[in-house]
Amino acid sequence: MTDAGLTPAPGSFPCPFCGPRDEAEFRYGGDPDVARPGPGSSDEDWARYLYVRENRRGLVREYWVHAQGCGLWLIAERDTVTHLIQSVREATP
Ligand SMILES: [Zn+2]
Repeated sequence: MTDAGLTPAPGSFPCPFCGPRDEAEFRYGGDPDVARPGPGSSDEDWARYLYVRENRRGLVREYWVHAQGCGLWLIAERDTVTHLIQSVREATP
């Protein structure tokens, strides 16, 4: 994690590589805590993976990509109530 993850201003998103940038430069990439079904999984498992999500309140982990910047994939911790980014780190495979 990095202290660059603290949101300095509304509408700003902290990239660990580029620094604070406009949030419009980033694209949501999904939930890093949802496991992809393996080979031979049922249609029901794939449907659950693709379409069923919890609508959690509070701090959540999310994949984001700096699509209009460095292209870095990130894991951000964001509060769904305040939309403030609590931390950001580079996503590693
Ligand atoms: Zn960046």
